[in-house]
Amino acid sequence: MSFDWSYFFSLFKDRDFWSATWTVISLSVSAWLLSVIFGFLLALARQHKHPLLQGFARAYIWLFRSVPLLVLLIFVYNLPQALPSTSVLLSNPYWSGLLALVLSESAYIAEIHRGGLLSIPKGQYEAGKALGLGYRVLQYKVIIPQAIRVALPALANEFISIVKLTSLVSVVSLTEILLVGQRLYTENFLVMETMSAVAVYYILVVTVFDTLLKRLEAWLDLSTRHKRPAVSPQLHTLARTPLPAIEQTSGNVQKALQAKSLHKAFNNIEVLGNISFDVTPGEVIALIGPSGSGKTTLIRLLNGMDRLDRGEVWLNDQPFIQLQRTGPGKEKFYENQALSQQIGMVFQGFNLFPHLTVLENLLLAPTWHKLGSSEQRQHFAAVTLDKVGMLDHANKYPHQLSGGQQQRVAIARALMMKPRIMLFDEPTSALDPEKVAEVLQVIEQLAREGITMLIVTHEMKFAFNISDRVLFMEQGRIVCDDSPEALRKGDHPRIMQFLKDISFNE
Ligand code: ADP
Ligand code: MG
Repeated sequence: MSFDWSYFFSLFKDRDFWSATWTVISLSVSAWLLSVIFGFLLALARQHKHPLLQGFARAYIWLFRSVPLLVLLIFVYNLPQALPSTSVLLSNPYWSGLLALVLSESAYIAEIHRGGLLSIPKGQYEAGKALGLGYRVLQYKVIIPQAIRVALPALANEFISIVKLTSLVSVVSLTEILLVGQRLYTENFLVMETMSAVAVYYILVVTVFDTLLKRLEAWLDLSTRHKRPAVSPQLHTLARTPLPAIEQTSGNVQKALQAKSLHKAFNNIEVLGNISFDVTPGEVIALIGPSGSGKTTLIRLLNGMDRLDRGEVWLNDQPFIQLQRTGPGKEKFYENQALSQQIGMVFQGFNLFPHLTVLENLLLAPTWHKLGSSEQRQHFAAVTLDKVGMLDHANKYPHQLSGGQQQRVAIARALMMKPRIMLFDEPTSALDPEKVAEVLQVIEQLAREGITMLIVTHEMKFAFNISDRVLFMEQGRIVCDDSPEALRKGDHPRIMQFLKDISFNE
């Protein structure tokens, strides 16, 4: 076998090859970055409720995944024949190559992003809604950072494909690595040596970028971050500094919350039928009842998480959620966004933002809502974290905490919005039994402070001890609304039957 090694090695000093390598790098990186951005917009459009946007995204993805890149390249390069005005840009093979690559790759990358978006749990959107975050800030701060992390391995893979696909751009005579090689071996006929060098150049580019992308992936992988800087002494000092007294604006409020004839059906099956009750400021209400009786649905209607079919919700004597008549037989769901901050929600599954530290979780919503100055927010966060006993964990990520600790952080995060009323949906039912007490203690402390609360719970002793009123739900209706004392006396036989295992001699 004859292989001209000295010629082969001489090709690594060839200036044309190095400049072609640079062209490949620049073309691949630009095409990848643009496709990642455009592909993300396509993925969002593909999931959008608007049929036109969704239709466009579907058609785009279908079309550009079906057309071979080579066909697209030749088409784009020759487009100036039909549209002479495009010749400024497209007669340059670099730009037409870039355009064809972006058109084609965005279609693939959109589907990768869609996978990333679908992997984000529904609870993340719900937590964002409960904190009153707008669509854009929720995407930008919560959804995109998580979706990109999930999609990154597949995106990195797509980058490698793009590097190799750039060799096709030689067909429109862009001087990239393959074309330099082809020009050489048509002169000297040393095909094996030249193509081996071409392969080495590609391997080099791919290896360098593969390593870089792996590093990026490792850096973004939060599960590998164990050690976080200790909490600054400044935060401890802030936590001990008393908060300035807040002006009492709720002085004349008669009712913190009013549910007026709420109805809800899923698939034409009634889940809530005509629910009405009032909550006065400072009241703590326990909502109990068998599983499936509609407690979660009720709580979700109260803060607009689910849409009611009929009825109204009022907050602080003002309409909050209503169905407004927009025409004969037509009704529009209306939610007063300005009031939505006044209602806080704690979920069964915590729904912390996993890519943010405890402190960042607390500060995200108040920062976006511009509640006070940055110093005031830090101060309030320090005091609130201290209150739930989580100050020393301020710089940890949620995955570094136990379930009970995560729930205490979730309570602190909801309190950061200074809500007038807090809703809890079975806040301890996802916890190990030994973690339940620490969360109940925090809620009990809030109750003593006079925070208005509505708590769905199966912890009956707790419910009876801290609440002013107990609402008992069954089959979508409130069948009893009375004080714990009255219930203890046995005034309501149905509830006594439900509670027969519970002892009240606490
Ligand atoms: P609880 O919290 O008291 O256990 P839920 O409010 O979760 O009860 O559920 C009440 C009823 O509504 C159940 O029968 C449940 O199957 C039904 N339900 C709740 N959410 C939905 C939904 N999104 N789609 C269809 N049915 C639902
Ligand atoms: Mg429930």
